[in-house]
Amino acid sequence: MNTTAQGIEAQSPHVMNTYGRLPIALSHGEGCRVWDVNGKCYLDALGGIAVNTLGHKHPKLVPALQDQIAKMIHCCNYYHVPEQEALAKKLVELSGLTNVFFCSTGLEANEAALKLARKFGHDKGIERPEIVVYEKAFHGRSIATLSATGNPKVQAGFGPLVEGFIRVPINHIESLKQATEGNPNVVAVFFEAIQGEGGVNPMHMDYLREVRQLCDERDWLLMIDEVQCGMGRTGKWFAHQWAGIKPDVMPLAKGLGSGVPVGAVVAGPKAAQIFQPGNHGTTFGGNPLAMRAGVETIRIMEEDDLLANALRVGAHLMAELKQALSAELASHTVREIRGQGLMLGIELAQPCAALVGQCATHGLLISVTADTVIRLVPPLIMTAAEADEVVAILCPLIKQHLLPAN
Ligand SMILES: *Cc1c(COP(=O)(O)O)cnc(C)c1O
Repeated sequence: MNTTAQGIEAQSPHVMNTYGRLPIALSHGEGCRVWDVNGKCYLDALGGIAVNTLGHKHPKLVPALQDQIAKMIHCCNYYHVPEQEALAKKLVELSGLTNVFFCSTGLEANEAALKLARKFGHDKGIERPEIVVYEKAFHGRSIATLSATGNPKVQAGFGPLVEGFIRVPINHIESLKQATEGNPNVVAVFFEAIQGEGGVNPMHMDYLREVRQLCDERDWLLMIDEVQCGMGRTGKWFAHQWAGIKPDVMPLAKGLGSGVPVGAVVAGPKAAQIFQPGNHGTTFGGNPLAMRAGVETIRIMEEDDLLANALRVGAHLMAELKQALSAELASHTVREIRGQGLMLGIELAQPCAALVGQCATHGLLISVTADTVIRLVPPLIMTAAEADEVVAILCPLIKQHLLPAN
């Protein structure tokens, strides 16, 4: 079997060199498996970075999207789009919030959230609004969202950054209180319920509730970026729901359309009326194809009980990983296995980017983020048997990687 695709150049001659790509070109998929152009099969534990909620070629999604494409793909927001109302109604129902703005990507959803926070401030007479953001956060790569991101590598070379951000460490309420003490310009607190790119770092339940309370006391917006951890990945529709709280603003994207680009900002009563006609917009946002993808993704998730599956298979995967790596956990060469549902991170005591290629060679797609964290965000349809396969391929490669020679 080929381990690398033939004829794949290290760098594409015409596509900009923005990603360090594997020498693999994928051609098609089915369920949790994908095939490259040479016919080699891979088990997909990355799901297009937490995007392919329903895996590949889902038998219910494909005909629904074909039907929609044959009716209408795009029409623009000068008109009512009934599919927008349908998806908004569903997101409102699942979140307990009230209104939705649609866009196409995660950074756009976050950009809209940042604009909401600033206008929330201006509407209260705050001329220079400030937003609390977090160390190791990732919110996207537009100028504003990379400024909100807590990763110097993402920001390097793109200054001057957007101002108006206050940065604090996660899970430390005193730091948040100190950093904002006596500052009348604070308008919002903005974070991921589980940091994705930053290394699968969950916010503690107590911390989420404390921040909610602080936001209520001080009239700040609580804005939770659920772009990666939302849409059922943790076994609830949205990761913050484990803490029994509601945000005021919730950006979504990645898994919402099962691969069709869909972004959304869901807002509660405190933020739902901030934007008025002319304040915000996007040409592609909310088009009929994207909305149909969102509606059908949620419908299929409900029909097939994929939240329960994410929870069950995620817990199984976590337990099997802990068992297979018990010696490494005891010796602290594996620092921690963490996360919830089908959003898991395995943190090693050393960098491990090389594992991505090694896993691919052995027929498994994963990612490594924050240098030392193996991230597993497979489709939510993954079975326990497939999770066992992930462990069987991944853990021996981790053990080998941890041998002293490395
Ligand atoms: C991926 C991601 C984004 C950015 O989404 P894009 O669609 O790539 O713009 C923002 N926030 C979080 C938490 C993400 O994981």
